[in-house]
Amino acid sequence: MTILQVQDVGFRYSAQWVLKDISFDVGKGEIIGIIGPNGSGKTTLLKLLDGILFPQEGDVRIQGTSIRRIKRQVLARLVAVVPQETYMIFPFRVAEVVLMGRSPHLGRLVFEGKRDYQIAINAMEKTDIISFADRKVHQLSGGERQRVWIARALAQEPQIILLDESTAFLDIRHQVGFFELIKSINKQEGLTVIVVTHDINLAAQYVDRIILLREGKIYEMGEPEKVITESNIAHIYETGVLVDKNPVSGRPRVTLLGSHPPEGGSRLKSGAAPQL
Ligand code: ADP
Repeated sequence: MTILQVQDVGFRYSAQWVLKDISFDVGKGEIIGIIGPNGSGKTTLLKLLDGILFPQEGDVRIQGTSIRRIKRQVLARLVAVVPQETYMIFPFRVAEVVLMGRSPHLGRLVFEGKRDYQIAINAMEKTDIISFADRKVHQLSGGERQRVWIARALAQEPQIILLDESTAFLDIRHQVGFFELIKSINKQEGLTVIVVTHDINLAAQYVDRIILLREGKIYEMGEPEKVITESNIAHIYETGVLVDKNPVSGRPRVTLLGSHPPEGGSRLKSGAAPQL
């Protein structure tokens, strides 16, 4: 079942088009990765999916309805966002931030009830942050804060969760933990996930399909095996790479070649050059 449709979308902040001819469908329960070089339009695309921006051309539809016709509060029950930067200036406590996720479900001047608290607690349990529910968010590490925002997004009980380059500041254990968490939420709740990431290897491991953007257009879209090829990645990122199969998952694996091009086309042994 299709949950999200992006139809011939074009968007510009000023004279120049930042996104053009963007069309794709997302099925309910899919995990979609969006990759592409800096400035290729990933964050802008995510903002169009959340109704923060509206396209000048084409349309975005959620469950068949144009996003223009969905009220903000209703949209917040359908789509939740985990932003790139999760730092908060105001010293809210973790539990308060998670509970904020319930606001799209509350009427005006209606306070949270027992059920809302229970949903917030469940979200904190799933994301393993219950042990620091009383701590102030601005005292947490980047990885902990990110889990708070994921819990807040879950408390929103959305159909679709959008994540923007959220592994950017995390160490490798937390990067893997992030994708493991997303995958388990996706499996348990049937939640549709769209994640912008720079980590091509992690995307290849965890997502069902990848959108590769280049200069505001979809260069390739499909399963990781179709999108993450040597020619696509080398061409789009203008960097020499070697793509082989991850021996554990069988998914594509990208190795940066740097100043070590394979001699006579011969392949480097794994581990000979830094991984992306
Ligand atoms: P990415 O997330 O792939 O790095 P962005 O969507 O952030 O790409 O940016 C795409 C293009 O839009 C870039 O050329 C960027 O400079 C431009 N851009 C992004 N945000 C704004 C804005 N608020 N006003 C004007 N131009 C913007």
